[in-house]
Amino acid sequence: MIKVSSETLSEPSKERSPGGTGVGIFGGTFNPIHFGHLRSALELLESLSLSELRFMPAGEPPHRDSPVVSAEDRAAMVERAIVGESRFICDRRELERDGPSYTVASLEELRDELGKDRSICLIMGCDALLGLPQWHRWEALLDLAHLVIMARPGWVFPDDGVVAKLLDEHGGSSDELPKTPAGKIVTQTLRPQDISATNIRALLQSGLSARYLLPESVLAYIAERGLYAKQE
Ligand code: ATP
Repeated sequence: MIKVSSETLSEPSKERSPGGTGVGIFGGTFNPIHFGHLRSALELLESLSLSELRFMPAGEPPHRDSPVVSAEDRAAMVERAIVGESRFICDRRELERDGPSYTVASLEELRDELGKDRSICLIMGCDALLGLPQWHRWEALLDLAHLVIMARPGWVFPDDGVVAKLLDEHGGSSDELPKTPAGKIVTQTLRPQDISATNIRALLQSGLSARYLLPESVLAYIAERGLYAKQE
């Protein structure tokens, strides 16, 4: 049986204090960024006492079809979405790199920039965790960063296989994250937000409103640039 405890963040905890030095990395296609991403990122930033959280839009995602919307537009939407939250950063490094955007390469660069002692937390959904063994040089990820898994209520972890072994060897609690730079896997159950970029694109392509699912500033950018336009 895998001993992975999932911590729930929906209730504020008096034990958690602001002002840490850890850095959160939230990768994704952000096609477009929405309140599911933003709220989850803020909850993690505060509950894990991270000093900053970097949204890292993928340039050319290696695991899925290339999005029709350009990397530049996706990053511009992230930048608009995070205006006013100084702890959020849009990290464009994967857009500037030629070829597929491998997370391990980004983490290597970040480790060089941030120094060997800084705690780095790579945030991913539980769906992404299951696909981890298909990632380029995935074994190196835990030497470079901690993994923070965003679980959904009712989510069950695998009992055997590569991921189960990984959880068994590296599973820990959030208190351990600031104490070491890398190597732990921590699971956090976040406030559920049933929002996906797929659903937002489908609404816009059908000529329906996506209001209240993502920031107004992002919707204004989408309208300005004619992105996800209604299919005639
Ligand atoms: P798509 O619908 O195009 O697959 P998405 O909405 O899942 O997109 P991504 O850019 O693929 O967005 O996701 C980046 C990260 O955000 C992933 O780790 C994913 O698990 C997480 N994520 C996506 N939607 C939510 C949500 N509603 N709440 C919390 N995390 C989310």
